[in-house]
Amino acid sequence: MTQSPVWHPFTQHGLGDPIPQIERAEGAALYTADKRRIVDAISSWWVTTHGHCHPRIAAAIAEQAGKLDQMIFAGWKHEPAEQLALELRRILPDQLSRVFFSDSGSTAVEVALKMALGFWKHQWEERSRIVVMEHSYHGDTIGAMSVGARGVFNAAYAPMLFDVGRVPFPGDDPQPTYDALERECAGGAAAFIVEPLVLGAGGMLMYSPSVLTEMRRICARYDTLFIADEVMTAWGRTGTLTACEQADVVPDMMCLSKGLTGGSMPLAVTMASEPIWAAHYSNDRTRTFYHSSSYTANPIACAAANANLAIWREEPVMERIDGLCARQEAHLSALSGHPAVRNGRRCGTIAALEMGDAAGSYLSDLGPRLLRRFRDADLLLRPLGNTVYVMPPYCIDDADLDRVWSEIGAAADDFVAA
Ligand SMILES: *Cc1c(COP(=O)(O)O)cnc(C)c1O
Repeated sequence: MTQSPVWHPFTQHGLGDPIPQIERAEGAALYTADKRRIVDAISSWWVTTHGHCHPRIAAAIAEQAGKLDQMIFAGWKHEPAEQLALELRRILPDQLSRVFFSDSGSTAVEVALKMALGFWKHQWEERSRIVVMEHSYHGDTIGAMSVGARGVFNAAYAPMLFDVGRVPFPGDDPQPTYDALERECAGGAAAFIVEPLVLGAGGMLMYSPSVLTEMRRICARYDTLFIADEVMTAWGRTGTLTACEQADVVPDMMCLSKGLTGGSMPLAVTMASEPIWAAHYSNDRTRTFYHSSSYTANPIACAAANANLAIWREEPVMERIDGLCARQEAHLSALSGHPAVRNGRRCGTIAALEMGDAAGSYLSDLGPRLLRRFRDADLLLRPLGNTVYVMPPYCIDDADLDRVWSEIGAAADDFVAA
């Protein structure tokens, strides 16, 4: 057999790990070509909400594909995008009055950053500094990397990244975060971008809604634009439609992607408040918002998103989420007190813990070892270093969720035995 020419993302091919081939998916399960059933305990990297191949979403995609597949979105419009924008307006805070389409979480972030700089430039005010939170992740394009944590993942690209202000992750005492943010805002920061309540790729780090509320208040005091990157946290992940909702926060811009189509198609939006739009609105062409990509507002992806929103309207999605939250909590507390488990924590449907004792150098290979172990047990779990987290589709049944957690428990037991 010839070797595959495919170069996979975040994959060190030189380590020789097998790359299983998936043939089909349904609900919370992926099926391999050699007929194994894999439980998708991380929602295929945080995107799948109602389950794989949801019949309503699949039908909407098929229907739209036969009707209008793709068209230019600069200066032209189509019904699926119009409908989606109106529905997003209806379910999100009133102040987020404008909807800009793109095709991934990273581009939604790039768009928000460009809108922020455009906002200040078009008002003739010199503001361009972006402030971020330590340990954040906002995507892998250059701008998104610039506003994210620096480390081994982007060290080689450091010369391409721009400088930003950083505030510490809020610990038990959030005051240092507030103080640093206040200093940056008072110094004329253009915008602050943050993942509300949960820092995903940074290690499922969680902070309280009251901290989000206070950070928003500080930004407002200095007119620093507040960008909520809800790419991971929205669509029920944190127990509410958006994480901002829990903190009574309305940002100036909100980035949405991942679960926007129920996890079926690549699509993103950057929701913007009226002042952001107004700063670009003019009969002067130089104030145009110059951003597009070929597949902006792809009609098939928009149809998938509309089907997702119909599911939210018509099915008991919130009930399923509440049920999953309770089940996650029970599994997590069953492991609390285990000698190999630390920092058990949960925000909505997301449960996370650290395995092993406090960081030692030998822990550096714990993540890959766990990854292999879970793969061999037919589970899709992808630890972040020694942080193990469970973030399943909302439709996961008790048997599958039990299997996920009992394997995590067994891994913890083996860790103690070793
Ligand atoms: C995944 C993620 C992104 C990037 O989204 P992509 O669709 O992978 O480009 C941005 N921000 C957050 C918070 C994310 O979790």
